Amino acid sequence: MTSMEYLKLAEAFEIIEVTRKRLEMTDMLAELFQQTPVNEIEMVIRLTQGKIAPDFEGIELGISDTLAQEAIYQATRIPKITIKRLWISGGDTGTVAYEAMEQKKQTPLFTDKLDVKNVYDTLIDISKASGTGSQKFKLKMLAFLLHNSTSLEAKYLARTFSGKMRLGLANMTIIDALAVTYATKEDRDKVEWAYNTCSDLARVGKLLAEKGLEGLDDISLEVGVPLRAMLCERLPSIPEIIEKLNDKCAFEYKYDGLRIQAHISDDKIELFTRQLENVTSQFPDIVKMLAPAFHGKECVIEGECVPVDINTGEMLPFQVVSRRRGRKHELGSAVDEFPVMLFLFDCLYLDGQDYTQTPYTNRRKMLESCIFESERVKLAEVLITDDSEKADEYFQNVIGKGGEGIIAKSLADDSFYRAGSRGWNWIKFKRDYKTEMADTVDLVIVGAFSGKGKRAGNYGALLMATYNADEGVFETVTKLGSGFDDEMLAALPELLDEHKIDKPHKLVNSKMKADYWFEPAIVLEVRGAEITLSPIHTCAINLAKENYGLAIRFPRYMGILRQDKGPEDATTTDEMLALYDIQSNRGGE
Ligand code: ATP
Repeated sequence: MTSMEYLKLAEAFEIIEVTRKRLEMTDMLAELFQQTPVNEIEMVIRLTQGKIAPDFEGIELGISDTLAQEAIYQATRIPKITIKRLWISGGDTGTVAYEAMEQKKQTPLFTDKLDVKNVYDTLIDISKASGTGSQKFKLKMLAFLLHNSTSLEAKYLARTFSGKMRLGLANMTIIDALAVTYATKEDRDKVEWAYNTCSDLARVGKLLAEKGLEGLDDISLEVGVPLRAMLCERLPSIPEIIEKLNDKCAFEYKYDGLRIQAHISDDKIELFTRQLENVTSQFPDIVKMLAPAFHGKECVIEGECVPVDINTGEMLPFQVVSRRRGRKHELGSAVDEFPVMLFLFDCLYLDGQDYTQTPYTNRRKMLESCIFESERVKLAEVLITDDSEKADEYFQNVIGKGGEGIIAKSLADDSFYRAGSRGWNWIKFKRDYKTEMADTVDLVIVGAFSGKGKRAGNYGALLMATYNADEGVFETVTKLGSGFDDEMLAALPELLDEHKIDKPHKLVNSKMKADYWFEPAIVLEVRGAEITLSPIHTCAINLAKENYGLAIRFPRYMGILRQDKGPEDATTTDEMLALYDIQSNRGGE
């Protein structure tokens, strides 16, 4: 069977690119699909998406701009400087290739027409090339494709090389077109369901083309193939959430990190992000933690990966994970430098059984039944209640511990895991005031915790306090673990040991049990991200809210030892309250 001409695709892309209306794009695409031979629909969908494999396979062409420019030069032989200029003025690889082909003086004597199979297979070969000689090979292949293309084909080939198709075509439009072509408009939900389950539109298209709608029955949740993530809606208040969810729901801690879908089987563990990126190699520590946590199980579970300070036990800002993800090439040290924890909140598949179509309670039960929790892999915290006061108290508690907010989850009979959709089965409720402390504070060291990891044998984190000038006592406000350079760390024992005592100082009010205690003497300058209510610190206890004190979230030592200040010169509890008010009012504006 002859393959479809690539020019047909390029012509369709050219129209789709300038079409704004979704319906018109759908019609255009459906027309293209109708003309596509059954055995080529998979390739056509991939090329339309500008890809050669589904996202989760992580297969890349690995073509740099320089290589693409060189290929354009080899195929057209127009001066390199002209190509460079086109590049600088246009920036879009497609336009550069198009213009260069237009400026090409002669049409070569021998060209072969490009067809879909030819283009696709060549791209696959390019993606497989590695090691010495691979750049040369890639260049040869790219130049070959461009040499045989028309200007229009070159435009879309070049965009495919650079990974930027820019057709403005949403996956949902491709789904519409697939439904219209191979079934009916009314069947689009089933087509979408298939896509949400296997995350691969080309596979969905192939099954539809080969077997019609029934072909989609071949699709099911598979270990190793990520599902598209379920997302949440939002409501502005807890009573509204409870009402929406029919009076009773599960309030889960909303962790602020990176969503991870883990696929676990006997011999393999794979991790995917919400964008379906396979990040297994970036988180070898998570893989290592999950193996014993789910020993002997075959499952698909979801959770949030959160960076932690192993010395304070505190969860750190989400950006810390990104810092680690930026270091693909020196991962070894990044793994130790930015340790993470995993909080699991869902179980989609367990030992041969797909649980996505069972209610939340059931899935949570499955998760609880199959996990062996450890210090670094835990179940997400949950509170089940119909009482909005209790839920609000829980929310404050979460905020106090540095959480982002809570996610209410429906307990209804149809509280299924709806892959790929944002729905009312999950409703988020977040802190809405602006974070950021207005000023640095000077805090007194009153206790310390033993160090772990690189800080083993030294102090890991310090328990810091404000001075309550009215009562003449010191009140704890945070656990400080970051901002210390090696020199300061090494100096800590000498600095602190002369103040060491064997129990909390009588002027120190602490609910926390530190490993070491000191008489209040040393003052450090600290900056935090924000001040939160806290059930575990004693600073301003009961003043901002009954049973709560104030805490500084994400504290950082500013490198300044305030030798000029005695403990009574430290930031006072009243000042902390004032800072808290400034912060809250700012949020209210
Ligand atoms: P958006 O949904 O608007 O794109 P976002 O990416 O910040 O914003 P949110 O809707 O705010 O996400 O929150 C949903 C995310 O919260 C989930 O994708 C997940 O990563 C995270 N999360 C943290 N804790 C939980 C939990 N207990 N249950 C479900 N998701 C959780």
